[in-house]
Amino acid sequence: LAPAYIRSIDPYVPGKPVAELAREIGLAESDIVKLASNENPLGLPPKARAALESAVAGLVRYPDGNGYDLKAAIAAKFGVGTDSIVLGNGSGDLLALVARAFLAPGDSAVFSEYAFAGYPLAVQMAGARSIEVKARDYGHDLDAMLAAIEPSTRLVFVANPNNPTGTLIKPGELLEFLEAVPPNVLVLLDEAYVEFLPPESKFDSVGQLAAFPNLIVSRTFSKAYGLAGLRVGFGLMHPSVADLVNRVRAPFNVNSLAQAAACAALDDDEFIARTIKLNQEGMKAITDALARLDLPYIRSWANFVTFHVGDAKLLNEHLLENGVIVRPLASYRMPNSLRVSIGLPHENARFIEVLDAALD
Ligand code: PMP
Repeated sequence: LAPAYIRSIDPYVPGKPVAELAREIGLAESDIVKLASNENPLGLPPKARAALESAVAGLVRYPDGNGYDLKAAIAAKFGVGTDSIVLGNGSGDLLALVARAFLAPGDSAVFSEYAFAGYPLAVQMAGARSIEVKARDYGHDLDAMLAAIEPSTRLVFVANPNNPTGTLIKPGELLEFLEAVPPNVLVLLDEAYVEFLPPESKFDSVGQLAAFPNLIVSRTFSKAYGLAGLRVGFGLMHPSVADLVNRVRAPFNVNSLAQAAACAALDDDEFIARTIKLNQEGMKAITDALARLDLPYIRSWANFVTFHVGDAKLLNEHLLENGVIVRPLASYRMPNSLRVSIGLPHENARFIEVLDAALD
């Protein structure tokens, strides 16, 4: 039998696949509007698509287990050494690797209420104890998180912006937090949505790596970079921390298509600029509609927005019946809230239209 800490893990429940919903409600797959997973509605970055096509022939070989080209591209873009980089099968893999490397039974890790669901899972898989700290205005209460650190605490997770609430921590507050965390406690700063931030709201996380050897910055290609299905993310950290995390990493955890596409995507600034502009316009369209319908929402800095309704379960069913998939947040203990990702203009309009009709 598995140990008790494995048996007590709640199985992950994936959302309904587009094909299954289309069949159920008798629509074509192309008519389903999926705004559930904070993906990039523009599709693949053009440079990544071209790189994928030329990488296909190389699939007969194992991937580069050290991700030489991708690490070189990341190192050049972020001004770090390649020995500061760990590649993950998505950033979800990376945070689980960090937990596996640094947490043992008896240790604890701190994170916020309403923070990304990957944190408690990673902690539990390592057999360690989760310390969940009450949120403040749906965001991280950094003072309370500091106060929650115990002698057994080895790791603190901070999501900025956070999913599913979209909240942001001010750069100055984040710096003060890093200064106050004991140096023997690692801080995993999860910046999965950082590309969506306006420059003045961005914390210079990479610039702080030299000052804080206990800081790990985590990034992903799944959101703004539009490569969610390929599974690739990375962490930037002190080389001695990277060395330990790499020891628990499966050597071929990032496949060769993912490595090739991620290299090319990093170089596609035009695609990222288009993504940000589309997101700003879509965010305005959706939040304007929520305001008009008197549905309170949490101000979001990412590519999704969480809003509150009387009966989220019923509204979600209505949206599904009309071919619109959003994310219910009952598993985050927000049973009266739904999270909608920002899509293409016609997808946002369809979501608003169905919402409008449901609340009529
Ligand atoms: N961190 C946050 C805050 C997220 O929202 C997600 C995805 N929902 C992840 C990490 C993991 O994403 P991925 O594994 O695709 O990089």
